[in-house]
Amino acid sequence: MQKLSERTMSFTDSVIRRMTRVSNLYDAVNLSQGFPDFDPPQELVTALSRVAVNGPHQYSITWGAKNFREALAAKQEHFTGMKVDPEREIVVTCGSTEAMMASMMSLVDPGDKVAVFSPFYENYGADAILSGAEPIYIPLRVPEFYFDERELEEAFRKGAKVLILCNPSNPCGKVFSFEELSLIARLVEKYDAYVITDEVYEHIIYEPCKHIPFATLPGMRQRTVICSSLSKTYSITGWRLGYVIAPPVITETIRKVHDFLTVGAASPLQEAAVTALKFGDEYYKSLQEKYTSLRKFFLDGLDKAGITHTTPCGAYYVLADISEFGYDSDLEFCEDLAEKVGVGAVPGSSFFKEDVRHLIRFHFAKKESTLQEALSRLMKIRELMPRKK
Ligand code: GLN
Repeated sequence: MQKLSERTMSFTDSVIRRMTRVSNLYDAVNLSQGFPDFDPPQELVTALSRVAVNGPHQYSITWGAKNFREALAAKQEHFTGMKVDPEREIVVTCGSTEAMMASMMSLVDPGDKVAVFSPFYENYGADAILSGAEPIYIPLRVPEFYFDERELEEAFRKGAKVLILCNPSNPCGKVFSFEELSLIARLVEKYDAYVITDEVYEHIIYEPCKHIPFATLPGMRQRTVICSSLSKTYSITGWRLGYVIAPPVITETIRKVHDFLTVGAASPLQEAAVTALKFGDEYYKSLQEKYTSLRKFFLDGLDKAGITHTTPCGAYYVLADISEFGYDSDLEFCEDLAEKVGVGAVPGSSFFKEDVRHLIRFHFAKKESTLQEALSRLMKIRELMPRKK
């Protein structure tokens, strides 16, 4: 038998998804793969049951149902002031995962270079490989996750055509400041580059931080491809509804890639989700309050358990320091943690290009009772986990 494709040989399966399987195996409280265990908003569920009866059940337009795109354009303008043409500047995709992949395939040719801040969400590595690009990593330095302007400029000088900007950041919870974004914008302009943003956590943000979409910086709209999704904002990760917002010259190509990859996102789900896109400000305020309270609950619990951790400004992830246990492999640590303590986490090394093995990622998008259970188990971490050194 001949070998399978070379293209796929250099990446492994997703460590995040693998840790969900490991958690299930040991009946651990799964704080690895980031998705909520609470229900989506009731109106959304009701809308879905209405759609089950009334349809649609056939394909929508490949780049997204008209009413979905119109509601999305209105929401985007409401929150960011951006005027988005729903007919020409939106492509609805199967999650932001597809949005990112389709964007990369549309902007990048084999051999092109793509700049990525490290730590990064693991899909970007695979996206780069699948589109034939060579990633150049720019470290965000622990513990504040600042980047060095010279290192970023060096990436552009080496020819990076695209920068991937995950803001708010998974896994480190960084929210880029206006000054940082302005500095990036200056370099993007100078080196004639594009930015693909991942803004799926745009509404999960903690005071006093504010989310500033990169596309709203002067001159950046034409250079920015926004990827985002409804997964995190409306607690519907399984619906796989994402989108791209970009200028027409770019969406024209992304539409074609998207069409041949998936034809379209699920039309009944788009129809139901219009209800969510039309929610008023109270919804987003209560989402923010909910996550602010979950963050406090979880971080206080980690403090009580004596576990050193980061404090995110956005998104719902925490990096915890496991140095004291002396493991060489954070993957082995996470497997032991699931088995012996009963809590699922993701090894930090799957997010860092640098050799970082002393961090693991927990997420706190869970009911308080679920987090409570995880925290009571973590209180016994020092009794239950072996020490390697
Ligand atoms: N973005 C989430 C995480 O980082 C879920 C990833 C996924 O499995 N799609 O855990």
